[in-house]
Amino acid sequence: MKKVIEELQPYIPEKPLEELKSELGLKKLVRLSANENAYGTSPDVKKAVVNWAYTQSNLYPDGDATELRQLISAKFKLDPKQIVFGVGLDEVIVMLSRVFLEPGDEELVSTPTFSEYALHAEIEEAKINKVPVLENGGIDFDGMLKAITQKTKLVWICNPNNPTGTFETVADIEKFVSQVPKDTLVLVDEAYIDFVTEPNATAMDLTKKYSNIVVMRTFSKAYGLANFRVGYAVFSKEIAEQVQKVRLPYNVNSVAQEAATAAFKDTDFVNEVVNKNAKERSKFEAYFDEKNIKHYQSQANFIFFEYPNSDKLADYLLHNGYLIRTGLRPGWLRISVGKAEDNESIQKLIDEYEKK
Ligand SMILES: *Cc1c(COP(=O)(O)O)cnc(C)c1O
Repeated sequence: MKKVIEELQPYIPEKPLEELKSELGLKKLVRLSANENAYGTSPDVKKAVVNWAYTQSNLYPDGDATELRQLISAKFKLDPKQIVFGVGLDEVIVMLSRVFLEPGDEELVSTPTFSEYALHAEIEEAKINKVPVLENGGIDFDGMLKAITQKTKLVWICNPNNPTGTFETVADIEKFVSQVPKDTLVLVDEAYIDFVTEPNATAMDLTKKYSNIVVMRTFSKAYGLANFRVGYAVFSKEIAEQVQKVRLPYNVNSVAQEAATAAFKDTDFVNEVVNKNAKERSKFEAYFDEKNIKHYQSQANFIFFEYPNSDKLADYLLHNGYLIRTGLRPGWLRISVGKAEDNESIQKLIDEYEKK
């Protein structure tokens, strides 16, 4: 056994909802701890999956995900060879860590952020350097620049950032990338970019201008396909070729490809999700403001907020049917923005909790 694995703190996935529900004796339990899509999935996905011919089950999937690749490259005006698909963005993070990190190398993260960046760096026996976010939750780009050393191979920029929900403009990201050494890769994780209501949010075009920037996307959030496990990264062509070498040849199965293709084409569904989320997000932020509950400005489908004895509030909500995320920063909680009726119930529950 490798020593690093023995000592590793694993990523703890969500408990199955049904199991948790029966454990707590609840009739209804809504999971708002994993930033899943509150509005489900495009009905077109159901059609595509049901129509998928079972006669192909004995055949290996299209290892290139040709149709999906064509659609995505047409939309963002990319060379199709720039894209590498993964079994969720999770697998892309694994591939990147495997390709770029050797024992003793360094990676740089802004904290708090998505924990899997550090987890996979640890597995590769790389050192993780951390720069805390600014007072407003935004990335400290100057601090990040100063923290880059000759050994820094990867720099992670999660935008909007999980868990703070805060958003960085393309101009700020470009200014940063232009000052980063050319052999240090800047990885922009855009898992939540569809939820951003500011204009021109994506850094996708920077992949055409800088060879050391990578933009990552997933179908798990705004597209509502978390169960199907499809994500991708957009690289310069030369780097994509190297990363393809470590990708398992048939990683994304045909049903997942069909589902992602149908979801990608149904722009109406995504727009509706994004609009509903934006409306519910502002209502929730207004509620927090009114109660003087400190929170960051979110451009995602979740809000990060500070609360005295935060775990006690989370526990109260859980026993009343709402699971939210604890343990990301002492005193802070992350709540996914749910459907209107759930958000209203949660706000009532918080009001009640405060009266007790
Ligand atoms: C959810 C999430 C992912 C992982 O997405 P999958 O495609 O479901 O593996 C990656 N990055 C961030 C920041 C996320 O929140």
